[in-house]
Amino acid sequence: MSTFRAGSLWLFRLFGIDVYLHWSWILIAIFQIQSSANAAQDDRSWLLPIYESSRWYAIQYVALFGIVLLHEFGHALACRQVGGSADTIVLWPLGGIAYVRPPQRPGAYFWTALAGPLVNFLLVPLLGIVAFLDLGIDWSALSPDLPYFLKVIWGINLFLLLFNVMPVYPLDGGQILHGLLWYLIGQAESLMVVSILGMALGGAAMVLSLLIGSLWLSVLSAFVFFTANMGFRHGRMLSKLLSNPRHSDAACPACGFAPPQGNFWLCDECGTRFDTFDCRAQCPGCGKLFRITACPNCAKQHPINEWFDAAKKYENPSYTPHA
Ligand SMILES: [Zn+2]
Ligand SMILES: [Zn+2]
Ligand SMILES: [Zn+2]
Repeated sequence: MSTFRAGSLWLFRLFGIDVYLHWSWILIAIFQIQSSANAAQDDRSWLLPIYESSRWYAIQYVALFGIVLLHEFGHALACRQVGGSADTIVLWPLGGIAYVRPPQRPGAYFWTALAGPLVNFLLVPLLGIVAFLDLGIDWSALSPDLPYFLKVIWGINLFLLLFNVMPVYPLDGGQILHGLLWYLIGQAESLMVVSILGMALGGAAMVLSLLIGSLWLSVLSAFVFFTANMGFRHGRMLSKLLSNPRHSDAACPACGFAPPQGNFWLCDECGTRFDTFDCRAQCPGCGKLFRITACPNCAKQHPINEWFDAAKKYENPSYTPHA
């Protein structure tokens, strides 16, 4: 995610959330707008909207990402509401990414995933009223293309809704399913199930994209496949970790995960395996002190004393760490 923010243009900050535009969005946008306008001119585009003035292709493209942005704000604000953190949204050619870290509870995770598509669901009637009902406003007086544009935007939002709720992890539908299964069979097993589904459907979509020669679909299906693959490996590791006894005196300051007991840590200096929470991040073999300890659950890194402080805070919310 740092690579995305590195190559991204900061747009604005709203509700404490920074919105960035990835550089590749600009390239793809120019290409997409040009090619839709050309295809419409050549009249070989029964699927593409046809506007009289070609600037409407640009307006439509920007409006599409306006809807995507509202969707991402849905995720981010829902995550905040349940006590998680969310401070960044990046728009890129395949849509948007809200960097959300909901608390590690199925309900919080479920609500964060659901809130994005919920925005599109609410927009269906709202945009529909503007596009299809006679509100006594003559849209065509503003521009002859405007009434048609409003109908196209309604359709795009509906498409985004249906696309996102497909139960293919890591799409929202897959994450919603992950949250539901988490209640029933536990976090690690649920993640493995939805990741296998994601890999299967992502792989099938990759084959399809080669058959029909769709670049957009091949990039998207590769993204789904590899993210699901990472999810599967994470689920498998989590299942191993969760079956071990845990440290009750330490917790991840970011996600609250209690680390497993056991010699899971390896010293890169002398090769000793040790339990870093028993040894306070100091290798018993050579005495090397590890400045930060990564969370096996959320991968955030914190100094070891923050792990012990976090566990005390979870037990007693009024606890404040000593300097
Ligand atoms: Zn989403
Ligand atoms: Zn060592
Ligand atoms: Zn964590």
